[in-house]
Amino acid sequence: MHRRLIAPGALATASLMLAIPASAAGFSPGAPGIGDPYYPAYGNGGYDVSHYDLRLKYQPATDELEGTATLLARTTQDLSRFDLDFLLDVSEVRVNGAKASFTTSGEHELEITPKSPLAKGTSVTVVVRYSGVPSSKQAYGFTSWHRTPDGGVGANEPEAAWWWFPSNDHPLDKATYDVSVLVPDGSQAISNGTLQSTSSRLGWTRYTWRSDKPQATYLATLAVGKFDITTGTTDGGIPVVNAYSKDLGANYGAARASVERTGEIADWLSRYFGPYPFNALGGYVPNTTTGYALETQTRPFYSPRQFANGSNTSVVVHELAHQWYGDLVSVRGWKDIWVNEGFARYAQWLWSEHEGEGTAQELADYVYASHPADDAFWTVKPGDPGPENQFDIAVYDRGALALQALRNEIGDEAFFAVLKGWPQKYAYGNASVADFQRYAEEVSGQPLAALFDTWLFQPSKPGTPAARDASIAKSAQAADASAQPKSWKKIAATNDVHGHGE
Ligand SMILES: [Zn+2]
Repeated sequence: MHRRLIAPGALATASLMLAIPASAAGFSPGAPGIGDPYYPAYGNGGYDVSHYDLRLKYQPATDELEGTATLLARTTQDLSRFDLDFLLDVSEVRVNGAKASFTTSGEHELEITPKSPLAKGTSVTVVVRYSGVPSSKQAYGFTSWHRTPDGGVGANEPEAAWWWFPSNDHPLDKATYDVSVLVPDGSQAISNGTLQSTSSRLGWTRYTWRSDKPQATYLATLAVGKFDITTGTTDGGIPVVNAYSKDLGANYGAARASVERTGEIADWLSRYFGPYPFNALGGYVPNTTTGYALETQTRPFYSPRQFANGSNTSVVVHELAHQWYGDLVSVRGWKDIWVNEGFARYAQWLWSEHEGEGTAQELADYVYASHPADDAFWTVKPGDPGPENQFDIAVYDRGALALQALRNEIGDEAFFAVLKGWPQKYAYGNASVADFQRYAEEVSGQPLAALFDTWLFQPSKPGTPAARDASIAKSAQAADASAQPKSWKKIAATNDVHGHGE
């Protein structure tokens, strides 16, 4: 962790000390990272954001974004200074109404020094005025803002916010959002949640979106472009808003034939995971050249490439499964990524079973049989893969295999009770792989440490005895690496579901 140390030179400067009120003597800067060992500079210390109000204007022709972000936060320590994560150009910052001084540091830190120090446990309002061309900004050599012929899109994991709003960028600090974006008439702005209003004036149209349940920063999204918008309502009564770039060419039909299944698939998933946890639903397909999809809250992002070989409901199942496993319950730290991806992949296996294209057991057997023991696949530990392997295929396939092993160990009744109970237990919060093991032990009444260690934490292929114990690849037929289930190719076509933009 990159914790800030107080430089001895600063302490020796008596005049600086005198400038700080006596009551502020113990005040110190908030840490520039929230404390995630995978990404030490991500998020920040010293405060917790409860709400983001983003009032923006975007010009698709030039990719110019400008606006004002108002953050409502609460301090968690006595603060002399604090950071936000952001890349665009800031013109003014106010804290509790008073102008604050600010500077930038590191790859994406905006350091803010309020006029008066902030006492622990108090409410703080931070206003940041800014502008810039998001696609011109890079951190660590990449950008998560994707230009399209008709506008731009901010969607990536673990980082997307830096390019369009200042934030405490880590899933541990969830907040609600109002996102209001002014775009030229004829363009639309797509974001999370419900569309509260649209209004047009003097050639510009304002789209106002509201996401009223806690949402992680990487799950906030903005897309501006020329979209066809469809609406509907699920059997469960959730309003659906989907958006498709008018410019998807030959992928248009397949994209629409897939994403229009959103309501049906969400209702189907709720049988396994419990009631759909948000008041809005949908998906959007901008004309990006990226390949991945992302579970942006209530309204996943899909790349056109996901539909290049025809419709693919499996990717919709994956991203919607994340609404429970990833969005409702988010990772505590990025090492816990299996709690997202193992389950979203397993949902694809359940969908395959539902569609009669191969059972979860057959898919698990195939994963086990098709990777020989010397395959690097087995060196990745889904339970703690390391930042370099956070989105490795093993986190998905070995991760889902581990769930089949768990299912076989504790039986269907306990397994499906765990799948449904977990999202409720940690609803709108965060949880770790260890929390999941504890919960599965509690529900099943069985000790599971050895099983989790074998399938999630050993950097090697579980041996034949362990596989037999977990009823994986038990028969000669099941151990046949050529027995590829029918759904395999469709599922594999969604493998590029996350990742950094090119
Ligand atoms: Zn995923």
